[in-house]
Amino acid sequence: MLKQDIEARDKKKIEVEKQFSEKVENTDKAKEMQERLVGIKEVDPLLEAIGEEIKSLTKASTVLLFTKDASNRFHCRKVFGSSIKALQNYKTDAKKDIAFGEVACAKKPFLITKIEIKIVLASLSKTIAIKNILLLPLLGANEVMGVACCLNKTGNFDQAGVDAVEDFGSRVNLLFQNVIKLEKIKAKSIDLENFDSWLKKNRKAFINILEDVNKANSDLEKSLSQTMSMYRIAVELSKSLDENKLLETILRNSIRLLQTRKGCLVINSHGRLTEATKHNLVVDLHLKTEKNPIKWSAEQKKPIIINDFSKTGYKKFCELTKFKNIIAVPLIQGSRTIGVLCLFDKTGGFSRKDSQALETLAHQATVVILNARVHEQEKKTIKKLKELDKMKADFVAGVSHELRSPLTTIRGYVDLISEGEAGPLTDTQTDFLSIVDQSSARLTNLINDLLTVAKIESDGLRMNKRVLSINDVLESVKKVMLPDAKQHDLQLKLKTTKSSISINGDANRLEQVLINFISNAIKFSESGGFIELFEYKKGDTVVVGVKDNGIGISKDDKRKLFEKFFRSDEVRIKNIKGTGLGLAIAKGIIEQHGGKIGVESTKGKGSTFYFSLPIKKKTAA
Ligand code: ADP
Repeated sequence: MLKQDIEARDKKKIEVEKQFSEKVENTDKAKEMQERLVGIKEVDPLLEAIGEEIKSLTKASTVLLFTKDASNRFHCRKVFGSSIKALQNYKTDAKKDIAFGEVACAKKPFLITKIEIKIVLASLSKTIAIKNILLLPLLGANEVMGVACCLNKTGNFDQAGVDAVEDFGSRVNLLFQNVIKLEKIKAKSIDLENFDSWLKKNRKAFINILEDVNKANSDLEKSLSQTMSMYRIAVELSKSLDENKLLETILRNSIRLLQTRKGCLVINSHGRLTEATKHNLVVDLHLKTEKNPIKWSAEQKKPIIINDFSKTGYKKFCELTKFKNIIAVPLIQGSRTIGVLCLFDKTGGFSRKDSQALETLAHQATVVILNARVHEQEKKTIKKLKELDKMKADFVAGVSHELRSPLTTIRGYVDLISEGEAGPLTDTQTDFLSIVDQSSARLTNLINDLLTVAKIESDGLRMNKRVLSINDVLESVKKVMLPDAKQHDLQLKLKTTKSSISINGDANRLEQVLINFISNAIKFSESGGFIELFEYKKGDTVVVGVKDNGIGISKDDKRKLFEKFFRSDEVRIKNIKGTGLGLAIAKGIIEQHGGKIGVESTKGKGSTFYFSLPIKKKTAA
């Protein structure tokens, strides 16, 4: 081995031995330091001790100790060495500060050479002249909660120094976590102390508030339970429209609400008070006697409570009835008293609150009683109207029937005379006879329509229903109506579905409806127009209708179209002939088929009359 090699090896050996003994020395120092610091239980002295140790270990001329707040900002808490005032409140944001951000993220020491200082610690380097810098993270629960910022070491920080400081850092981390915990506990205990002293000062007020809250709570509970009772009563009352049943329900619920046992509902019938319904009551209420509290309540329209009869002018009433106490509340409608709700003999007597509760119930009771009366009246009126309607229909049917036979005779004889059976006729006589014939034909149509309407209104038309193809009905109607349309210079088109649709219906009656639609379309269209007879499927139904481009119908008229005898003003003015019964009959026929009838129309643009019927499903053979 060469001499130089031996020398180099010895040198290396000495160096390694030196490094080793330095490491042992540092570790011993760190151990000593840890033992010293463990004994400290206050935040400030602990921070001081950590800072001093770091300063002596790193040989930095200044050490700044930062702790992190909830919004990720590092606050300078302590300055060791050359203290500069401005540094004491120095804050930096880890999100914006590259150096602090790096340490917070990597959780490793960060050594900065001079050139980088101005870039990475821009604001700090403005406050203090920095030659070199070493940032050491202080961890609390695996997160950087503080940073020791070591500045300006004579010479420079080297990797050995960084390693030593990192080793030290890992030892102080636990202590530093204690600092953080201590601070939190302190903050909480201050809060607690404050609250405690506040409580001591405001104890009385606090107790008063609690009492108020308790009282309000129990009032609320009471009023809630009363509201619930009222609601239940309202629901029960709304279930019946029979006045007698209602009166019983009202009284029963009043007794339950006020927790008493006896009661009576008095009704004002044509100015006379009468006992309508009683509960647990055998005595007569002597409603005719002058000095009667119930009568007083009805006349004055005010509630009355008597808990001690001896102090009132109603002693006689008390002697007669033997009541211990009474509450009477009137049922008022406008300026009229319709009745009085009376309860008796409550243990402990009736209170103002009882009166309020009973007044609320009386108000509801008045509404439901009046409602029941209106309903009863309506029922009577409807019954009467139905009877009148039937009488009218019977009368129309009777008269129409009586008119039909002489008319048939007239038309028969007109035919005979026209055919020359009564001798030869002059041209004028023939013309006059044709007018008589046309008029009697119109009269016959009117009478037939009247009879049909009368039948619909009384027992319904007799229908001859069978399964039929609606397409066939449309074909047949087109054949019948085509000449009439042509005569008025109108096109009549048929638009049917490709496959035939079956329904259950009376073919003649359905043809009657469609003929009425087409006759109207012809009557209410200008020559040169078009009429379309159509059908299409819609779900489980078939829609059949007639569309024209005639005079159309106004919005107002549309609502009355299917009423008997309705004819629009325009039609009357233009003197277009008709009875106003066709659509009413059509509606009756369609409804008897379980279908719906309708119209769509725009004034001046045309109309579409249609009906829909259920499609008859094919059943398996
Ligand atoms: P009538 O045709 O004998 O007057 P309807 O009951 O058939 O009786 O019709 C009632 C009224 O409805 C008609 O007078 C007319 O005012 C109106 N109306 C019916 N069909 C049409 C239509 N296609 N276009 C315009 N108005 C119509």
